[in-house]
Amino acid sequence: MISPPTNFHSNRMGRIVLMAMEEVLGHSGVNAVLHLAHLPDYIDQYPAYNQGFKFPLQHLSLLLTAFESAYGPRAGRGLFLRVGRACVKYGLREFGSELGITDLAFRLLPLPTRIKVGSERLAGLFNQITDQAVHLEVDEKYISWQIKHCPLCWERQADIPSCVLAVGLLQEALYWVSGGKNYLVEEQKCIACGDSTCTIVIDRTPMS
Ligand SMILES: [Zn+2]
Repeated sequence: MISPPTNFHSNRMGRIVLMAMEEVLGHSGVNAVLHLAHLPDYIDQYPAYNQGFKFPLQHLSLLLTAFESAYGPRAGRGLFLRVGRACVKYGLREFGSELGITDLAFRLLPLPTRIKVGSERLAGLFNQITDQAVHLEVDEKYISWQIKHCPLCWERQADIPSCVLAVGLLQEALYWVSGGKNYLVEEQKCIACGDSTCTIVIDRTPMS
């Protein structure tokens, strides 16, 4: 039984996720997954790009579960990670200038500063356009991205951390902000595994 939604994403965010999903699965793939997730209302009717706040956080966990049953747990999570990466392209179109990460002044900052400032601005945006309550802790080596109300874990239990959409989104956002470098992004704690937050740790030294 699904309890009534209490926390939401902005409609813009919901639309970005569904468009990214379509990029990864194709149109008929998205429709199949939406059926499986018992969310047929989104078929051919993604949320509008507007200021509304009506995309329940728990719809993301229903979608993740649908991916896992459609493609198997491992492959389903792999695809969901790719959806997270694809969100960045649509997200930049919608929020790039708001974030101030597309302007020249930002692009000229030294790389470590760009990674720190970019992560802080992204967390600030998430706290504006979703009810996830993201908190950041930054030290010399790591950035710890802590989610209090994780949409991917909503009423889910898992043996391993599985908030792959957030991991993929952060990987791709860092790739973009750094001008093409890859960072180690690892989920170390997960609410679905019994932790109090979902904690994703970013190693501030690029791998390549
Ligand atoms: Zn989570």
